[in-house]
Amino acid sequence: MRQTPTNIQSQIGIFGTPFAKLQSRREGRDSSAIDSAHHTRRDDDPDDMHALRRLYRLAVANPLMPRLLRRSDIGVIFMLHRFPDPQLANQAEHEVAGLRGILEYLRRKRFEIIPLQTMFERAQAGQPLNGAIALTVDDGYLDHASIGARIFAEFDCPSTTFLTTGFLDGLLWFWWDKIDYIVRATALRKMTVALGDAAPLTLQWNTPAERNAAQDTFTEACKRVPDAEKLAAIERFAKAAEVDLPAKAPKTYSPMTWDEARSCETIGMTFGPHTVTHPILARTSDAQSKFEIQESWRRVQAELAKPVPVFAYPNGQVDDFGEREAQTIGSLGLLGSVVGYVGYATGKDIRSPRDRFYVKRFGMPGDLNGLPDVAQFVTGLEHVKQRIRGT
Ligand SMILES: [Zn+2]
Repeated sequence: MRQTPTNIQSQIGIFGTPFAKLQSRREGRDSSAIDSAHHTRRDDDPDDMHALRRLYRLAVANPLMPRLLRRSDIGVIFMLHRFPDPQLANQAEHEVAGLRGILEYLRRKRFEIIPLQTMFERAQAGQPLNGAIALTVDDGYLDHASIGARIFAEFDCPSTTFLTTGFLDGLLWFWWDKIDYIVRATALRKMTVALGDAAPLTLQWNTPAERNAAQDTFTEACKRVPDAEKLAAIERFAKAAEVDLPAKAPKTYSPMTWDEARSCETIGMTFGPHTVTHPILARTSDAQSKFEIQESWRRVQAELAKPVPVFAYPNGQVDDFGEREAQTIGSLGLLGSVVGYVGYATGKDIRSPRDRFYVKRFGMPGDLNGLPDVAQFVTGLEHVKQRIRGT
């Protein structure tokens, strides 16, 4: 089943930390549900909360930590984004020390970490998932290869990165990065941009916080209009801001090359398709939607030794894709697809002819403050909590 926004929020850890703030500001694409949920407190029953906190302390602090998923048909897929690469001076969601700390925890506690493809194959062969974990990264930035793949390799962790193939092919750079570039490069502090059918947007700022808010406003508005209009509006924004957009991605926003991807394959990172241009698929025509999925899978297969037959939806929120995309993905013979909203990856979903196209993931926290969340997801406490609450 696809999730309603209410369901998504109820699945968030009660000990949640706002780790997805940066992701949400930059593009809000693959993590906005996580972010909004972290800031949306439910009216939790105090007794329930008390019991849950006790359970949680048992799980994280106690060496006899309960492993509630060990004999279950439930797995955990983590979703990651950018890693800090000093060469790129890029904005990043994941601290290196934090990521190492989380992977060290998973290894020390002997959780089973398997390739995403194995998780799909295991479930579809009717074998239980037993709490296995898969690590996924979205988009195909250079830092996924230069930093992410190397840290995963240090802990002998397989991972799968979803590639926006036009980005690697040098055909484009990401639309949200263009917005980021414009707001940083412009000398102006006020501009008006036409966007879709609504009244033109006036963007204005004096402080970095106001600039971030303006960037958010424009980025979010872009997600609601047809893809071609979004791209045209970003060109208009650049013009209004008196900024020349480079044809090629500036270093800080640059992709890995196919050679780098092949080199990552030798140290445990594999790659799956994530469209050609990273549009929100629901805002595209039938022809573009089909092309984006088909062509990105073709490019991944053509360039790589171990293409992963699982698709990831750009942005990945509930309204960003639908049956039309699921049909295309199925017709290509892929095993299924993953979404950007939170929840467990159940064997039942991965086997289902319909739900295998809506397999859920958890956002991986960006630093060690998020370790309690990780513990809650992988031990299965999050699952217990859902059951107590009847969600
Ligand atoms: Zn993406």
